[in-house]
Amino acid sequence: MTGRIVRGRILTFRDDPRLAGARAWRLIDDGAVSVRDGLIEAVGEARDVLARAPQSAAIDDHSGKLVLPGLIDAHIHYPQTRVIGSYGAQLLDWLNKYTFVEEQKFADSAHSAAVARFFFDELFRQGTTTACVYCTVHPASVDAFFAEAERRGARMIAGKALMDRNAPPGLMDNAQSGYDETQALIARWRGRGRLDYAITPRFAVTSTEAQLEAAGALAAEHRDAYVQTHLDENFAEIALVKREFPWAKTYLDVYARYGLLGPRSIFGHCIHLEDSEVAALAESGSIAAFCPTSNLFLGSGLFDKQRLDKAGVRVALATDVGGGTSYSMLATAAEGYKVLQMGGQSWPATQAFYQMTLGNARALSLADRIGAIEPGFEADLVVLDSHAAPAMAHRMESHEGDLEEELFVLMTMGDDRAVRETYVAGEKVKEV
Ligand SMILES: [Zn+2]
Repeated sequence: MTGRIVRGRILTFRDDPRLAGARAWRLIDDGAVSVRDGLIEAVGEARDVLARAPQSAAIDDHSGKLVLPGLIDAHIHYPQTRVIGSYGAQLLDWLNKYTFVEEQKFADSAHSAAVARFFFDELFRQGTTTACVYCTVHPASVDAFFAEAERRGARMIAGKALMDRNAPPGLMDNAQSGYDETQALIARWRGRGRLDYAITPRFAVTSTEAQLEAAGALAAEHRDAYVQTHLDENFAEIALVKREFPWAKTYLDVYARYGLLGPRSIFGHCIHLEDSEVAALAESGSIAAFCPTSNLFLGSGLFDKQRLDKAGVRVALATDVGGGTSYSMLATAAEGYKVLQMGGQSWPATQAFYQMTLGNARALSLADRIGAIEPGFEADLVVLDSHAAPAMAHRMESHEGDLEEELFVLMTMGDDRAVRETYVAGEKVKEV
C-alpha cells in the first residue's frame, strides 16, 4: 500500500454545534487527508500533508469540494429495496400488503446476495459508509448481507429479525430457533473485520413474550452487541401492543421488562412517547432514531427532537428505507428539518451535518473510529459538491464562502448528484 492523499475542503466535527457553537467543527479550506492501510494517517493544511507524503502516493484532488467523514445511517432495512415508494398505506397495512410479501423472498440466498449487492452500491452512491441494518427472519439474508459488507470493507451493524407471531408463516421463527440462529450468526460474524451484530426483535407486535425473553437473554450474554427495534411509530401499532401485552403501562415497558434498553439499544421512530417513556430512554442511555421521510410517508407523526434533547435522550438520524423514501442522508436531513419546522423547532445545517457524521457515530458508540476525520480513524470519507446541479450552483452564487449556507443548500437540494466520491477504508467506492 503506497497510500493516498485526498485533497479538498476538509470539514469535521468535534462536538455538537447545539452545545458548542462554532467551536464544534473544524474547516480547512485547502486541506488534505493522507490515508494508509484503511486508516487516516494525517489531516491538515494541504501543503503540509503533501510535503510529508511519499512520492508514490496517489493524489485525489477535490479542491473546492467539501470532504467530510462518510455518512452514517442508524436504521435501514436492506430487504426493502423493492418496497420503497409503495402507495397508500399506514404502518400495519403497509407491512402486510408490501413488506411481508417482499421479505419472504429472502429465504433464498441468491436473492439475498443480489439485493445486498444493490444495497451497497446504492449506499455508497449516496455517501453512506456505515449503517445499522435490519435483515429478514432468514439467517440466509444475514449471511448474504455480512458477506457483501466484508467484501466491500465497510463498517456495518446488522441482525436477523426475530418474529414469531402476527406475520405470514414464511416470516416466522420461534423463541428457540430465533435464539439459536442469532447465537450462530453472532458467532459467525460479530467482530469479523468491521462487522458488528444487532439483536433484532422486529417490534413488540411480532414477538411473543417468550421470544422477547430470549432476545433479552441474548442481550445479556452479548453485552456489547447492539439491540434494534421499533417503538411508538403509529397509533394503531401502539393500540395493538397494548392489547398483546395488557400488563404493560406503556409500549416501552414491554422492552424494558425483557432487559432490552441500554446504551447500545436503538429504537426506531419514538414519535408518540409518553413522559415515562422519555424518562426511561434517557435513564437507560438508549437511542431514539429519527426517521423523517418514513414518518411523513407512512403518515406516522412528527418527531419531537427538542423534547428528547431536553430530557437527555440520545438521538440518531436514519432513512428507514423502505418506509423511508430516500437512501440519501442529505435528503433525510432536509425532511428532518421540515418535520422539526412543523413542530416549531429549528435545525441549523451544522447540527444536521454533525448528526449525519459524528452525532450518529456517537449514537452507535463508534465515535472513537468513525464519524470524524482524525489521525487513526477509519478512512471513510464523502466528497460533496454544493454546485452539483444547475439550481444548486445558481443558489450558491450569492453565498460563496459561507459554510452554513453551503451546508444548508447541500441538505435541502442535494442528493446522490452532490456526492462526487465516497471512500470506504481509503478506497474509492462510488459507482459512477
Ligand atoms: Zn424500520
